[in-house]
Amino acid sequence: MSSDKRLLIAGNWKMNGLLQEANDFMDAFGSNPAPEQVEVALMPPFTLLHPMSDRLAGMGVTLGAQNVYYEDKGAFTGSICPMMLRDAGCHYVILGHSERRSIIGESNAQIRSKMNTAWLHGLEPILCIGETLEQRETGVTNVVLAEQLAVLKGAPKNAPLTVAYEPVWAIGTGRTASAEQVTETHAFVHEELTRLGHDCRVLYGGSVNPGNAEELMGCPGVEGALVGGASLKADSFMDIVKAAV
Ligand code: PGA
Repeated sequence: MSSDKRLLIAGNWKMNGLLQEANDFMDAFGSNPAPEQVEVALMPPFTLLHPMSDRLAGMGVTLGAQNVYYEDKGAFTGSICPMMLRDAGCHYVILGHSERRSIIGESNAQIRSKMNTAWLHGLEPILCIGETLEQRETGVTNVVLAEQLAVLKGAPKNAPLTVAYEPVWAIGTGRTASAEQVTETHAFVHEELTRLGHDCRVLYGGSVNPGNAEELMGCPGVEGALVGGASLKADSFMDIVKAAV
């Protein structure tokens, strides 16, 4: 890890977790203090935010959500606004995750609107970017990433922000980018961010597990991980946290 920024290891539970499972996770997680150099965060589904906030109280673990709507309040049946997330104890909100881009059809414009509303209410977006396998193989990775990062154009320079580089072909597939690919792509992402006036943490995501975390987190420009599948079990998640330092 070549950066002086504090590492962030964030667990994205996606659409997984019932109350009992969250309680079991927390029982196993215990009061397991994270090493000082690492910030630990959990992003459970909306229904678990309040109980998880209670269970995490005083533990120094940050809570986040996986999505937010871009309006403040009102007649938007089924949507969750930033104030509701703040009320539930959230600091982070994941935006632009590839599953939302590809399955729900979320656009860069919608992601920017959500980002604006999130900032207005004091949430820190974790902006996910990443190329598909076809895009990597046809050599347009950097073009795609630059387009996705362009949602930051005109954004306030001091707005709280984390970026997660997640190659789509590595998400949930057990296939990770090589250390060379990660190093090269993170360098490009940092360069683009600098050009856009942002100096924020850049996480890697995509099949991070206790066995590969040390190598991935050791790549220059990697300042943490966004972990999906391996964050569902407290022991594997904590093993990733330990491997990161
Ligand atoms: P994965 O998911 O670790 O299960 O590949 C990562 C993510 O989608 O954030």
